[in-house]
Amino acid sequence: MICLVLTGSTIEEDLAQFETQKAYVDLVELRVDLLQESQRLSAVDVPDKVEVPVILTCRRVSDGGSYNQSERSRFLLLEQLSKGNFAYVDLEDDIRRLPFEQNLTERGIKIIRSFHDFNGMPNDIYHRASRIAERHEIPKLAVTPKTVIDLITLFRIEQELASVEQKIVLGMGLMGVPTRILYKRMGSMLTYCSDTAIAPGQIDARTMKMLYRADSIDERTRIFGIIGNPVMHTLSPHIHNPGFQGINFNAVYVPFLVDSVRSFFILAETLKITGFSVTVPHKQAVLPYLGKITREVKQIGSCNTVVRSKNLWSGTNTDYYGFIEPLLPEIESARVQTALVIGSGGAARSVVWALRNHGCKVTIVNRDIEKARKLAEETMSAFDALEHASRYEGVDLVVQTTPVGMSPDDDGDPVPEFTFSGKEIAYELIYKPPYTRFVTRAGAAGCRLLLGMDMLLRQGYLQFEAFTGYHYPKRVEIYRSNTES
Ligand code: NAP
Repeated sequence: MICLVLTGSTIEEDLAQFETQKAYVDLVELRVDLLQESQRLSAVDVPDKVEVPVILTCRRVSDGGSYNQSERSRFLLLEQLSKGNFAYVDLEDDIRRLPFEQNLTERGIKIIRSFHDFNGMPNDIYHRASRIAERHEIPKLAVTPKTVIDLITLFRIEQELASVEQKIVLGMGLMGVPTRILYKRMGSMLTYCSDTAIAPGQIDARTMKMLYRADSIDERTRIFGIIGNPVMHTLSPHIHNPGFQGINFNAVYVPFLVDSVRSFFILAETLKITGFSVTVPHKQAVLPYLGKITREVKQIGSCNTVVRSKNLWSGTNTDYYGFIEPLLPEIESARVQTALVIGSGGAARSVVWALRNHGCKVTIVNRDIEKARKLAEETMSAFDALEHASRYEGVDLVVQTTPVGMSPDDDGDPVPEFTFSGKEIAYELIYKPPYTRFVTRAGAAGCRLLLGMDMLLRQGYLQFEAFTGYHYPKRVEIYRSNTES
């Protein structure tokens, strides 16, 4: 079930939140602690005003809530409100048994016994959950995984506590995001969502339902993902998940914030992950774990796509192919023979190797000239200092591979002195903003432009093929969440 946390300060706001999200949710949690004091008693009627089951919760400050009065008054409020037609009442694990609990049980209202840890995970989470379940209450464990090893512990909960049919488990914070999407893989009966991201890592209900289809995940759903650090800004779930839906492929693609690649390969076995994308800073660190790599991965020394094939992991680099694809006709017709590559970081390695392998003559310019020299020596290219870029005016192709000009520093231009004749192809790798200062200058001079977003999509489509064996479907729109412009 997808549970919407109602976070309004008035009942009216809560009902409005439900109205806009009701197509995506199966139940709601009414957070009475977030309501203005004058509104709290009116919460008793909320279950009669929404068409889904309601959890009654009044969270104290020490558990991340806003209720700051005495425990006695909190219990009194809960007792009064629980006269309403709530389906569940959430009470914390460490409070004594309250006199009205008996009455709740008699009326068929289930008690969720919750435990929160905002700083980490206790060693005894399995024991805590089974102790609560023995009392015929629903254990809720909201903990904060700090490492991939913690994530493994959480995902093993279903195996360890298979006999506990009704439980709620979630990992808070960015590391916990996969537990929110893959909640069914932990045997958790629900996942919490909110548009206002009241808890760190929380996802909005529409994204949970429409992008991740979290409530449709079953035992046959194949799990894919992306590993990186940071990783939550990635657009890749917005490419792959709609692609899976477009071809009716039972799969989900999840972002994993990864502190240790070694631990992630263990998690990949626990979750039986079928394949994953790799982004900064793990593109080199995955190499020792791969049983098979392509020639390009070997040359570039970096891998952005890992797929399980039989009993080993195989790695490829779709940045390489995504970059070179639109240039192939130009290279074949000898329209592109010489290239200037600005930068010599990770992306530049794919770019320079792809151009060299296709017979182009490349000059690399970089701020740190030693890095340019090293890449040039490896690839039999020429190199120079970044400030000498304009010496190479007249090349057929100029590729911009640095982050200069990327949002939020949209004004940046790594080669402001370089003058375009209008005959070059200008290739920008940055995709946010879609038109950087560099590419805008080139466009104004009349150059043909190749943009970062197109390369991102092309490398994503190639990854999709490596993951599924199918072409990326046509007419699929990239998903945008409510919070994205
Ligand atoms: P990276 O490995 O960190 O390399 C960064 C490069 O940019 C280095 O050569 C660095 O020079 C240079 N640089 C950084 N700041 C600079 C500055 N202020 N002035 C001049 N040069 C500067 O990064 P990366 O992974 O290659 O990524 C680079 C860009 O490519 C990012 O914007 C990324 O989003 C984009 N990218 C796009 C795609 C796509 O599909 N469109 C794919 C991959 C990457 P030094 O060596 O002197 O530090």
